[in-house]
Amino acid sequence: MKGVLNRTRNDYTIIIGCGRLGASIANTLSDQEKNVLIIDSNKDSFRKLNPSFGGLILTGDATDLGVLKEAQIEKATLIIAVTNNDNTNIMLSQLASEVYKKQHIIVRLYDPERKDVFNGSSIDVICPFIMSLNEVTEIIDMGTVEEVIV
Ligand code: AMP
Repeated sequence: MKGVLNRTRNDYTIIIGCGRLGASIANTLSDQEKNVLIIDSNKDSFRKLNPSFGGLILTGDATDLGVLKEAQIEKATLIIAVTNNDNTNIMLSQLASEVYKKQHIIVRLYDPERKDVFNGSSIDVICPFIMSLNEVTEIIDMGTVEEVIV
């Protein structure tokens, strides 16, 4: 994380997108007894949450400012934008940073070429493509791939 996140009892994480990643993060934070709210435009997505999930859920399109207000974004200490749409994630993370002045934001981007949008910003970007590429390269470099068939 680019900034130091000091966890306190006032922690309040908003996760946007209850896909596999968003739901897993929400379940983990809930297990750690953190305050968490997860937003998704599709109420069926919340089925991915554990039955023991102790956070809040909010059905709605997170690009709607009314939904973010309902989520009490002004109180959030961490925003995680993990919808399946890079444009939405970029827009939400920039809104959280520039309008709501959030210090801790994590955004997922599928398209590695769009990562540069965040150069010089305090927003943390996770890019599954780059992570996978790095892992594969590391495995190859370690020499555990004995034979490459072409
Ligand atoms: P996945 O592709 O499994 O990571 O899931 C992404 C999730 O993001 C899905 O459950 C979508 O319904 C959700 N999603 C996509 N766009 C929005 C949006 N604008 N607001 C809230 N949730 C969204």
